[in-house]
Amino acid sequence: MQNNLKSEFSWSISRHNIFEYCERAYYFHYYGSWNGWTQYSDDLSIQLFKLKHLQTKELWLIHIICNSFKMAIAKQIVPDFSNIKKYVIKFILKDISSLKIKNWMDDPKQINLFSTYYEYADIDSIKTWALKKINNYFSHLHTNKTLNTLLKIPLTMQKCHDNNFKYFKINKLKIWLNPLSIYSYNKKLIAFNFNFDLSDSSNWSLSTALSELYILVHWKPKINDIVTPTLFVKENRNYTVYAKRNLKEVIQIVNKSTLKMKSRLSYTQKAYIDNFDKTTDQKKCHTCRFKEACMTK
Ligand code: SF4
Repeated sequence: MQNNLKSEFSWSISRHNIFEYCERAYYFHYYGSWNGWTQYSDDLSIQLFKLKHLQTKELWLIHIICNSFKMAIAKQIVPDFSNIKKYVIKFILKDISSLKIKNWMDDPKQINLFSTYYEYADIDSIKTWALKKINNYFSHLHTNKTLNTLLKIPLTMQKCHDNNFKYFKINKLKIWLNPLSIYSYNKKLIAFNFNFDLSDSSNWSLSTALSELYILVHWKPKINDIVTPTLFVKENRNYTVYAKRNLKEVIQIVNKSTLKMKSRLSYTQKAYIDNFDKTTDQKKCHTCRFKEACMTK
């Protein structure tokens, strides 16, 4: 199988993570599923595109919470946690309805979960689980000082008040990141990130460093005027951590990772499935969203 590289190569933590997880899964995600959104694609691309959109229920919930906070910040809704919680519940119920009528069968971009695709899953029990988790999170989130400050900051002091991923370039390489918010406060530029229970603990400081680089590239402040708090949210508590990493080392990590990923492409920059090895760790295959397609290849 061969796929022309049709889009510009760009780097993100999630891309790096999936490559490290399994190169074959990386191929399926970034190359094999290409064009799978059109009905004229081959069956495998369509299948891979559908599988690429499967989420675990934990990640689904985290995305909903993060997006609800982003919307609250971007739309400047009353900075009241009960309002944000209402947003979260509204999105959960909307997705639960979509799962029940299996919208994903006609449109693979619609919500579908690993558990509702690969395993028998009672959708009502997923709803109960999600609402219970939300109650636990919100029972203490309102106590977090940094989050309270953030929600009260006027929109004019928000450096990017959109809902989207952001990117910057280093030596022509596009690097994506997804901070919760970037804002000015007390003469400082602050990039705020969330880290939930299940987020990969080894990469959170890389996220904060990317936020710092993004700010440096876009606004060129003094390095000491950048603050990068990360709010860790656990089931029953939360706390904020301020971390600084050596930015030269971070750029080296990104460059090394980029070189490794690009080394699997042909000299004409094409991706061939056989150049992306399957993992030898069977435990990873058990929880891999591409396992159905992988078995036939
Ligand atoms: S099933 Fe296993 S080998 Fe195949 S893509 Fe997933 S993790 Fe990789």
